[in-house]
Amino acid sequence: MLELFVIFSKGGIVLWWFQGASQLLTVPVNALVKDVVLQEKTGNSLFKHDKLGLKYRLDNEFELLYVVAYQAELALSYVDKLLTDVQREFRDKYKTDLQAKNIYRSFNFADDFHRVLKAVEAESLAEASKPREMRTWDKSAKSQKTVGSMVIDPNKKPIEKLTQTKSAKGKENQAPVLNGKPEEVVSSGGSGNESHSPDEDSIEMSRKRFIEKKGKQKTVAKGAVKSDDAPKKRVKESRKWDLGGGKKDMAELDVFKTSANSDEVNVAVSEMKLKGQMTGALKDLDTDGEEEEEEENSSDTSVSDASSSGGIFGIFKSLSMSKTLTKESVAPALEKMKDHLIAKNVASDIAAKLCDSVATKLEGKVLGTFSGVASTVKSTLQESCVQILSPKRRIDILRDAMDAKSKGQPYCITFCGVNGVGKSTNLSKVAFWLIENGLTVLIAACDTFRAGAVEQLRTHTRKLNRIQNDKKMVQLFDKGYDKDAAFVAMSALAHARDTKTDVVLVDTAGRMQDNEPLMRSLAKLIKVNQPDLVLFVGEALVGNEAVDQLVKFNQALADHSQQENPHLIDGIVLTKFDTIDDKVGAAISMTYITGQPIVFVGTGQTYTDLKTLNARAVVSALMKA
Ligand code: GDP
Repeated sequence: MLELFVIFSKGGIVLWWFQGASQLLTVPVNALVKDVVLQEKTGNSLFKHDKLGLKYRLDNEFELLYVVAYQAELALSYVDKLLTDVQREFRDKYKTDLQAKNIYRSFNFADDFHRVLKAVEAESLAEASKPREMRTWDKSAKSQKTVGSMVIDPNKKPIEKLTQTKSAKGKENQAPVLNGKPEEVVSSGGSGNESHSPDEDSIEMSRKRFIEKKGKQKTVAKGAVKSDDAPKKRVKESRKWDLGGGKKDMAELDVFKTSANSDEVNVAVSEMKLKGQMTGALKDLDTDGEEEEEEENSSDTSVSDASSSGGIFGIFKSLSMSKTLTKESVAPALEKMKDHLIAKNVASDIAAKLCDSVATKLEGKVLGTFSGVASTVKSTLQESCVQILSPKRRIDILRDAMDAKSKGQPYCITFCGVNGVGKSTNLSKVAFWLIENGLTVLIAACDTFRAGAVEQLRTHTRKLNRIQNDKKMVQLFDKGYDKDAAFVAMSALAHARDTKTDVVLVDTAGRMQDNEPLMRSLAKLIKVNQPDLVLFVGEALVGNEAVDQLVKFNQALADHSQQENPHLIDGIVLTKFDTIDDKVGAAISMTYITGQPIVFVGTGQTYTDLKTLNARAVVSALMKA
């Protein structure tokens, strides 16, 4: 039985995976990458890690790795064929995307994979069940030997010796004494886990010599140019691959990690500023700067200003003001408005609905002045947006947390979303806001996949911590990596209960919305721990992609929870709002589609850059040209 099949980019982005095993297989895959792939060893030989056997294929054209893992003792004979066939199938199916480097999309490859797997399994079974013919003497290898071939050539060394000589020579070549120290020799077996055939060994040996030769040439060439350079210790460097998300060295690859490596993250975290105060309710998005002034002066005059500066209202200039407005007469203007809204990242069907509501308001009216039209459009849009953005359910975290505290229960918020959207950063901002309001916080590090995730939270915790009433205001709860996230969250909640901590903030691993095993594990975490609030973290700047993620997260939680009334997403954290200029459409689309409110808006990279959304601010941004 297969334990795992995973397809990931050299940059560590997992495109698709199938997991048969119940335990997480990050460690063996990382070991394979480190000990075999990076060492440029052939993927045909079996790499053993504990009881697992792993093999891989490297697709150089699209820079993808295909890795399969299975119980080594099963000695599956079809693994090579499976790798070849899956690689071909995947390439053929997604060629256009792969060529365009569009690897962040979801790949619905499960059916294709299982079809290929079934076929190669059947083929191998048929092969195995074929009756084996006894070989006749004529067909045997021995019969092919000539007498001459059996005569020992004194000049020819026996195979074993030849290999030894090669090895010895190889070592000699590989260990030039530079700076008085031998160069690090790449051991073929790593930890002795790999099994190579003699042929593979000799191929590999030639390969090493070739690589080494090239390396030497380079060193000489370098030396010739920079003759004054002091000789440097040469060690075998891991291949540098250009990794998305700021990660640089494949040697540290965690295949499930897509955001920056831990050191980089920690630098970023330590640069996060702890300035300002956040007591009381969070500020609205529009309460600082021009936005506020504009809202305060919200009148026909400001609307005319907007029109003169060519804002959205310019669209309505062509309307004949003195006549009764009809559906037909406003249709061209509304079509333009729809395009404008779509350009602001509003999903097209929602843009159409907003335009319909404006059309209904305008129809039958005689608006003598242009500013009359403009203010009608503005108020209608505002009304519709407020309606969309107004929460169906009241979420007052401070009040609910206080309530829970009075009952001796920790209040729990779980953050989920895809990788790199800002879960940990915004969770830390929420932690800051809570401790500013006198609540003690326990951060549960339930991202047990991504290397550096725990350290990132530890750095935030260290930065945020303060002693108040003899109590540490924020603490980290972690159980390291490769643990069941649901269990870590459960232990964190128990710990919070024991230590009378007021709020537990659960950080979860980033996952793609179509990654079934990971979505199932998130559903389990939520089902088992029943947090008070499940927040979906999405980037404002990806627009419709964030909507797709949100819808699929919700669906997956419903599908995998196996409960009649599953706990779905309660609210949204919209991050990186500071980077979107006025393309605020994702806010509208996400709330419209799920009916869930935007609880927080991330507006930057300091701890105080956390706000609440204000429909008016969104409308103002929507109406900007
Ligand atoms: P995670 O993988 O979802 O936990 O993402 P991180 O919390 O590690 O954040 C990824 C990157 O996004 C980091 O560089 C953060 O500083 C950045 N980030 C998070 N929130 C915001 C925000 O509101 N505005 C901006 N500009 N950057 C943000």
